[in-house]
Amino acid sequence: MFISFEGIDGSGKSTQARRLAQALNARGTETVLTREPGGSEGAEEIRRLLVEGRGERWSPETELLLFTAARRDHVERLIRPALARGAWVVTDRFADSSRVYQGLARADLRQLVEELHRLTIGIETDRTFVIDIDPEIALTRGQARGGVEDRFETLGLDFQRRLRDGFLALAAEFPARIRVIDGSGSGDEVAGRVLAALA
Ligand code: C5P
Repeated sequence: MFISFEGIDGSGKSTQARRLAQALNARGTETVLTREPGGSEGAEEIRRLLVEGRGERWSPETELLLFTAARRDHVERLIRPALARGAWVVTDRFADSSRVYQGLARADLRQLVEELHRLTIGIETDRTFVIDIDPEIALTRGQARGGVEDRFETLGLDFQRRLRDGFLALAAEFPARIRVIDGSGSGDEVAGRVLAALA
């Protein structure tokens, strides 16, 4: 079983991915927790190129190629071997992040994203949870915790709104695979919603 968590910056998806992986391991299902960009040695190297150079360092097309290269390595080195031995994989972001961030938020590259995915990645998650939250709430939470404000500053609230709309549109397009989880309330409440949606 291959599960991803998606959402805007500061949505709480990383916490929820970790909590679900812990819950699954606790009930005896071997579960590998991973993340994108990154998740394998090579992909973490590419992550540094992407995250440290945020902003205008790469054109939208080059950025997409780098995210795709990182994903390819992650799939080859970590995801496929884990699934092949029967483990579950829970990843903090996967291809839907590229569909939304690279495909429509920075530029309209939807077709290129899909073609690259088909040619070089080829696998889809069995289930994706979009942790949905108002960008202003995500920003307030981030300020309290520290860490996301810089991304909001660089990318802007409107960018986060476009991302949110993009994730919701994807969920409407693929209702069997993608479930939208209300990301408001406490971490416990959100985790409960995720478990209920998985059952
Ligand atoms: O999810 P995480 O915070 O680790 O993502 C790292 C950064 O990469 C974030 O700023 C996120 O907005 C960005 N990102 C992106 N395109 C993706 C995945 C992540 O721009 N496909």
